[in-house]
Amino acid sequence: MRVKKNFTPYTTGQKRCKKCDVYYSIPDSYCPCCGYQLRTKARNKTTTLHDEIRRKKEID
Ligand SMILES: [Zn+2]
Repeated sequence: MRVKKNFTPYTTGQKRCKKCDVYYSIPDSYCPCCGYQLRTKARNKTTTLHDEIRRKKEID
């Protein structure tokens, strides 16, 4: 199944709950359903250096 490359839920500012597999367009960083931390696309202008460092630590 083909999906348009230019569109992902992340580009619309939505956040995804991995547990519920649902996208939210809310200002909160946590899922209102289960409380799991929502994931957003990292590479944008709102990403700070601090976030980049923290992200690398998570990978390690
Ligand atoms: Zn959830």
